[in-house]
Amino acid sequence: MKKYLVIGNPIEHSLSPKLHNYWIKENNLDAVYEKKQINKDDIGGIVEELKKGKIDGLNVTTPFKTSMVPYLDHGGLIPLAERPPEVYVGTSLEGKSVNTIFKQNNKIYAANTDGSGFHDSLSFLNLKIKNKKIFVLGAGGVVFSIVAALKWNGASKIYLSNRTKSKAEEIKKIHTNNNGKSIIELFNWENLDKNLPEFDMIINATSLGLNKNDLIKLDYKSIGKNKVFYDLIYNAEGTDFLSKGLELGNSVYNGASMLIFQAARSFLIWHGINPLKEERLAGTINHVFPNFYNHNQTIEQ
Ligand code: NAP
Repeated sequence: MKKYLVIGNPIEHSLSPKLHNYWIKENNLDAVYEKKQINKDDIGGIVEELKKGKIDGLNVTTPFKTSMVPYLDHGGLIPLAERPPEVYVGTSLEGKSVNTIFKQNNKIYAANTDGSGFHDSLSFLNLKIKNKKIFVLGAGGVVFSIVAALKWNGASKIYLSNRTKSKAEEIKKIHTNNNGKSIIELFNWENLDKNLPEFDMIINATSLGLNKNDLIKLDYKSIGKNKVFYDLIYNAEGTDFLSKGLELGNSVYNGASMLIFQAARSFLIWHGINPLKEERLAGTINHVFPNFYNHNQTIEQ
């Protein structure tokens, strides 16, 4: 039986096992997918297990997407560039951050399916990004993918704010051209509770919201209504960020659809099967997120 694992810390909230095991069963595969909470020091040992064939594939989640990179046999990172989403499937790295690990010809490779997953979710939710101004909160592993996908989709401006400013600066640097121009403008984390710039969509890409009492100190009132609030978190309880967005009259979406689409790309890499190919999306949503439409609401304008 093949064995797949998602590793992270915390990991209890992860719905990846529910999702992958559903598809494994649907496709009659002899495999199992489990979750494991690890510490940074455990990564080397787990990669060894992959090399020895004790594990057949890994998903890597918060906060190890960047720490995993040095353990890969990919022979150098492929720089982050404006590549179309399909390039990510099985072949390339997103520069600094990976979420799908697999073995091929005795070598350990990685891909990052977060960008494609986010891109697919924008299409599914019918969210148009072209010429839109987007405010992104966070600069962790996933934000490399989010920024890339926003660029593929034609965003005109990306405001980026992170508690640790140097990480936001690093992402901005990657997206600055030779003339010093960048689609990214940094916004001080300390100023989130005052004077926010005008934007069309705000994305919570921090892990604030994973815990019930987490609050993002945003100047919600100044945001007003008719904007899009997108939280990458897909907690069944929802997040304060989405509740406040909805209360103000904004459309709100959680990370459920992104989770499903990025997982489908991982599944394709490992098993060679697109689990969403045959109209399986509705069944998958229903199985993993029975309350999907409570947390994903479009305000009619
Ligand atoms: P990460 O690399 O660990 O980054 C965490 C981010 O959250 C950093 O920007 C960090 O800021 C910020 N943060 C954490 N605690 C904070 C606090 N107390 N105050 C302010 N900022 C704080 O994680 P990641 O991989 O980028 O993932 C970020 C989130 O996206 C997670 O909630 C994850 O579950 C979610 N996600 C969802 C999907 C999906 O498919 N729906 C896919 C990927 C990720 P610092 O840099 O200052 O530490």
